[in-house]
Amino acid sequence: MLRESVRSLAEAKILPFAAAVDEESRFPQEALDALVASDLHAVHVPETYGGAGADALATVIVIEEVARVCASSSLIPAVNKLGSLPVILSGSEELKAKYLGPLAKGDAMFSYALSEPDAGSDAAGMKTRAVRDGDFWVLNGVKRWITNAGVSEYYTVMAVTDPEKRSKGISAFVVEKSDEGVSFGAPEKKLGIKGSPTREVYLDNVRIPADRMIGAEGTGFATAMKTLDHTRITIAAQALGIAQGALDYAKGYVQERKQFGKPIGDFQGVQFMLADMAMKIEAARQLTYAAAAKSERVDGDLTFFGAAAKCFASDVAMEVTTDAVQLLGGYGYTRDYPVERMMRDAKITQIYEGTNQVQRIVMARNLP
Ligand SMILES: Cc1cc2nc3c(=O)[nH]c(=O)nc-3n(C[C@H](O)[C@H](O)[C@H](O)COP(=O)(O)OP(=O)(O)OC[C@H]3O[C@@H](n4cnc5c(N)ncnc54)[C@H](O)[C@@H]3O)c2cc1C
Repeated sequence: MLRESVRSLAEAKILPFAAAVDEESRFPQEALDALVASDLHAVHVPETYGGAGADALATVIVIEEVARVCASSSLIPAVNKLGSLPVILSGSEELKAKYLGPLAKGDAMFSYALSEPDAGSDAAGMKTRAVRDGDFWVLNGVKRWITNAGVSEYYTVMAVTDPEKRSKGISAFVVEKSDEGVSFGAPEKKLGIKGSPTREVYLDNVRIPADRMIGAEGTGFATAMKTLDHTRITIAAQALGIAQGALDYAKGYVQERKQFGKPIGDFQGVQFMLADMAMKIEAARQLTYAAAAKSERVDGDLTFFGAAAKCFASDVAMEVTTDAVQLLGGYGYTRDYPVERMMRDAKITQIYEGTNQVQRIVMARNLP
C-alpha cells in the first residue's frame, strides 16, 4: 500500500517537473510541497516527536519510489534522515524535542555536514574547529559538498574539539542556518542530481549554546559513522529507484521502436539485456531490504550490510542506466528522453556517503 501510494504521488506530482528541475538546476519545490502535504518528507521521525514513525524498510520504499521518477527529489527524505539521525541516535531529549518536531511538520529540513575540501574519504582529517567558551562553543571552518545547504534550516556539523585525539577528538553539533556567522558558497555545477543544491557551508565564529552538542564531547565521529551505517541503505534505495525507473522506461521503449520491420524488443540480444537489468535490480533490492531490516534491528552485521547494499545497488544503478541509454540508441543519448538524466544521476550514488572504494574497505574490515 505504501509503495502504491508513493508511486502514484510521485508520478502525478514529481515526475512532471523532473526534466525541468534537471535542465534548470533548480530545487524541486513542487516535490517538497507534495511530499510535505502527504507527510512523506521525513518519514523516519519517531511518532513521539510528531513524525510518521516509519521503520527503515518503509523509509527505503519511500525513497526508492521517489527516486524512480526524480533522483534529486529523493534527496529530500534521504537527507532529512541523514541530517537528523545523529540527533535521534545520540542527542539529548531536549535536542530531539527541539529539532525533530519542526522537521516532522515540514517547517525545516536537516543537512549533514561531515566533508571538507581536504577531508573526504579521510573524514577524520577534518579541520573545522569548535572551541569551548563558557556555556558556548565557537565554530570555525569550511564544510564542503553539503546536500541541501542553504535550503535546510538545521545542520549536523562535525568539528574538532581536541586536535590531539584525531577521530576521538571530534564532536557533533546542531547548527542553525540563522546562527550568526553561517553562510553558504555558490551551488556546485554538477553532472547529475542537479535539482539538489550542493554548497559549501562557512562557519565564521559561530557561537552556539553548549547544549547544542550531540552526545558527549569526543563522540561526534562515532555518531557520524553509526549514522552512515543506517543511511547508506537509503542511498542504496535511491540507486535502486533510479535503476528501476530506467528499466521501466526502456521496457516500454523497446516495444514501440521498430527496426528491421519489427519492435526491437523482439530481438533476443535486446531481451537478454533487459533480463540482465531486471535480475541485477532484483538482487540489489533483496540486499537493500535485508540491510533495512538489519538497520531496524541494529544487528551486529549492520555495518557490512549497509556498505554492501550501497556499493552493490549503486554499481547496479550505473550499469542498468548505461544499458537503458544503449537500448534507446541515439535517442537515449539526448535530453529528450529521461534515461540520459538517470545515467547522470546514478553516478553520484557510487560516490557519496563514502565512495564505493571506501565501502569495500568498510566491508573488508567487517566481513561477516
Ligand atoms: C553531490 C554531492 C553531495 C554530497 N553531499 C554530502 C553531504 O550532504 N554531506 C557531506 O558531509 N558530504 C557530502 N558529500 C561528500 C562525499 O561524501 C565525498 O565527496 C566523498 O566521501 C568522497 O570524498 P572526496 O570527494 O574528497 O574524494 P577523495 O576522498 O579525494 O577520493 C578521491 C578518489 O580516491 C579514492 N580513495 C580515497 N581513499 C582511498 C583509499 N583508502 N583506498 C582506495 N581508494 C581511495 C576514492 O574512492 C576516490 O575514487 C557529497 C558529495 C557530492 C559530490
